[in-house]
Amino acid sequence: MLKIGLTGGIGSGKSTVAKIFEVLGIPVYYADTEAKRLMNINEKIKESIRQHFGEATYKNEDLDRKYLADIVFNNPEKLELLNALIHPVTIKDAEEWMQRQAAPYSIKEAALLFESGAAENLDFVIGVYAPQALRIKRVMKRDNLAQDEIVKRINRQVNEEMKMKLCDFVITNNEQELLIPQVLKLHQHFISLANSSL
Ligand code: ATP
Repeated sequence: MLKIGLTGGIGSGKSTVAKIFEVLGIPVYYADTEAKRLMNINEKIKESIRQHFGEATYKNEDLDRKYLADIVFNNPEKLELLNALIHPVTIKDAEEWMQRQAAPYSIKEAALLFESGAAENLDFVIGVYAPQALRIKRVMKRDNLAQDEIVKRINRQVNEEMKMKLCDFVITNNEQELLIPQVLKLHQHFISLANSSL
């Protein structure tokens, strides 16, 4: 079974593209959602978060997300440490999840596929590209955030053009080129690859 990564910067449309693949019957692992779940149930992560960020990170076994976010938000080193604790466990969880899927291919959607090292375990990576101005406009609307706040977040991420160069395929989500035909074309490509490797 083929293992496909799906990545892109904030507001590029990764989740939107992932949902189209899901409609086509392809299972999708949403790394961000799963990482949040694992932070609440995985004893290894809980133990290391408590150890590095203090006992107050958990209240009655539930992660105090706001407390942790305040610690890492303006501290790149602490954020890197947090990611280093979470990524290996999430990568393993995604790997096991992919093994369990019966579809011809499955997808892992993650903002930090290359940065986390997760791309190494995948057969191909799809990048979702959108121009920065459009990404800002989308996230302002979706999350009700100020423009400068989104720009700060974008500036903390790897340059989008560089990231797309690392991808095997790029979907352009600029609201001019149609999205669904681009997804269908890749879907057909992966199905025929999966069939030829049977
Ligand atoms: P993040 O990394 O911030 O979670 P993302 O890359 O997963 O973002 P989405 O949540 O899929 O991005 O898209 C951001 C917003 O833009 C959403 O509100 C989505 O509905 C909207 N959007 C994405 N693509 C399109 C499109 N082609 N046309 C109209 N709206 C779109």
